[in-house]
Amino acid sequence: MDLILTNANIITLDSNLQRGETVVIRDGNVFAVGGQESLKGLRRQETRVIDCRGNTILPGFIDAHFHLLAFAESLVTLNLEPRNRVHSISDIQGKLREISRRLPAGSWIRGRGYHEFSLAEKRHPTRWDLDEATSTHPIKLTHRSGGAHVLNSCALALVGISKETEDPPEGLIDRDLETGDPTGLLFSMGDHLAKKIPPLDHDQMEHGLKRANQELCSFGITTIHDVSSRNNAERWEVFQKWKKQGLIKPRIKMVFGWEGFNDYLKYPFSSPLDEHQLRPGGVKIIVHETTGRLSPSQEELNKRVLCIHRAGFQAVLHAVEENTIEAACKAVESALKLFPRSDHRHRVEHCAVCPRPLAKRIAALGITVVAQPPFIYYNGSRYLRTVLDPDLKHLYPIGTLVNDGVHVVGSSDCPIVPPNPMIGIYAAISRKTDLDEVVLPEEKILPEKALRMYTGEAARAGFDEMAKGSITPGKLADLVVLSADPTAVPADEIDEIKEIEVEMTLVNGEIVWEKGA
Ligand SMILES: [Zn+2]
Repeated sequence: MDLILTNANIITLDSNLQRGETVVIRDGNVFAVGGQESLKGLRRQETRVIDCRGNTILPGFIDAHFHLLAFAESLVTLNLEPRNRVHSISDIQGKLREISRRLPAGSWIRGRGYHEFSLAEKRHPTRWDLDEATSTHPIKLTHRSGGAHVLNSCALALVGISKETEDPPEGLIDRDLETGDPTGLLFSMGDHLAKKIPPLDHDQMEHGLKRANQELCSFGITTIHDVSSRNNAERWEVFQKWKKQGLIKPRIKMVFGWEGFNDYLKYPFSSPLDEHQLRPGGVKIIVHETTGRLSPSQEELNKRVLCIHRAGFQAVLHAVEENTIEAACKAVESALKLFPRSDHRHRVEHCAVCPRPLAKRIAALGITVVAQPPFIYYNGSRYLRTVLDPDLKHLYPIGTLVNDGVHVVGSSDCPIVPPNPMIGIYAAISRKTDLDEVVLPEEKILPEKALRMYTGEAARAGFDEMAKGSITPGKLADLVVLSADPTAVPADEIDEIKEIEVEMTLVNGEIVWEKGA
């Protein structure tokens, strides 16, 4: 069907044509964009015309760092964030007790989103705290960062973690200093646990996915890059099934984990779906530093990056701290030295603490940075109190990176924070937190740059700029209609940006969400 959106303020983000009033959509693609009068002739008998009443249209938002499964799961698990009135360990215990009464003994209780900073006790809960709530149900709590979990004694026994268990190579089992007993707190062991804890049942999962789809569409997100390190052939099949069932409307780019990549090299799997619905992306490696040692080691990291690079793929390197970002740079550098390749678009994900010399190095190597500007909004006030100098001076230096010529992309790392791109755009422009504090004001960027982080730059990071990222004839009709123009908000009313609402979302020319509908 033909569709015309007219009487709109269209920000194309196309370098040739800046603005328009009308966009004509045919067969899921943008057919034409321009002035109201000039496109009048393109209206056909069956064309549906929508009057946008002066609202703003942008290319659909792309969230380039997303965890769909974890998001769906989070929507059907216990929410332990402060905004859900959780301010102490006894609040957590109360919620756990309540839910344990409704579930048969032995069924898993999952909670997420707690942060020791927001708890009165200023510490993580322990297995013993959780045991007080229930000893008959295994409990798994996920820290707000996703990087730590707390299990009760019942759960520890089920996953086989005891005093005798050694730390796995990538993780850390927190222990009581006197007895050596695990406290229940586990660091960087998410993948390890995922292999041992049963997934949600089918109905729960489907319920979570439907809600996830609703949320994504309501925020104007038309593509996600799913960068979960457990993505593999099996996950691909699952995503494909959901896509076919129409459960998830936004397009998905699937970045493989290291193990999934090895599967892929053996049996490259393809998708019978429209090629833009589900596509393989790069290969993710988590680089981290626990108690001063790099994991994987520099040598192993170089080897893996080289392998990804030689296979013609994109390395997606999770690196948060200065040392790990530097290690990622070294690995890319050594791969490029051996096999020069222009336009590799290897990515560093997060890049949270990045001093200027490192930013310059990233620029020189042509590395793309996938940042999470909404962290500034949701976590910024906590960073101001807990991150020490000198790291604090280099926290999410988006302005510096952009000025040094780095391609910087926006994302949410959802479910770590809600996937609302307008919050990320607002934070990149204002550097403001939810408590109205400002984190490194010198790192502000201009509104149009912020919009590009979630559109053109994100499309480029997925090698999709020919199909997405701007409103250009021939590109996919993935669009978002906003209640106001983020580039036209006066500087002294900057807070208005975060109040801008999504009126309508289109994927492939199909209206997938409409406010009030
Ligand atoms: Zn992530």
